[in-house]
Amino acid sequence: MLDKLKERSESLCELCSKTEATTAYTVSPKNDDTIANQVALCNDCLQNIDAENQGFYWRVVEGSIWNPEPSVQALSYRILQKYKDEDWASGVLSMVDLDEDVVQWALSGLALADVHQDAFGNALEAGDTVVLTQALDVKGTSFSAPKGTVVKRIRLVHDNHEQIEGKINDQMIVILTKYVKKNN
Ligand SMILES: [Zn+2]
Repeated sequence: MLDKLKERSESLCELCSKTEATTAYTVSPKNDDTIANQVALCNDCLQNIDAENQGFYWRVVEGSIWNPEPSVQALSYRILQKYKDEDWASGVLSMVDLDEDVVQWALSGLALADVHQDAFGNALEAGDTVVLTQALDVKGTSFSAPKGTVVKRIRLVHDNHEQIEGKINDQMIVILTKYVKKNN
């Protein structure tokens, strides 16, 4: 972790403020690792960040939402949004008054998590053509599609943003989005 981030957070996790920070977490969709985009996190917070039904744990953001750093505000706000159906979170949300930029940052990260994206972050839509970025074994056959294989007219797997379906060798198979590149 950067010394500057350590200094800013006084070596503590910037969400729960009680445990030693171990990770510099970059708040998506920002992807350059400058301190302004980062939050110092402890192991517990890091593990819970993508977990479901951790409302009890995340009451710690009742404190961190008041942190002066926009990155900490954005991440805290995003977590509050996730639990907005719970009284404690909706209570905090009704009290805070953040900059519009911070709110947009927090929400755009949420929106991104809801779409299918290729390995480079491009949004994928049904009907798109993609190229495999690595060789892919087609399950149940001895066929292996080489890297660079073009897959036309993909379908999106509805309940899983990491999967699409496409025809390879005349067979409809499930392909992980992280192994494809959208062909523009
Ligand atoms: Zn923590």
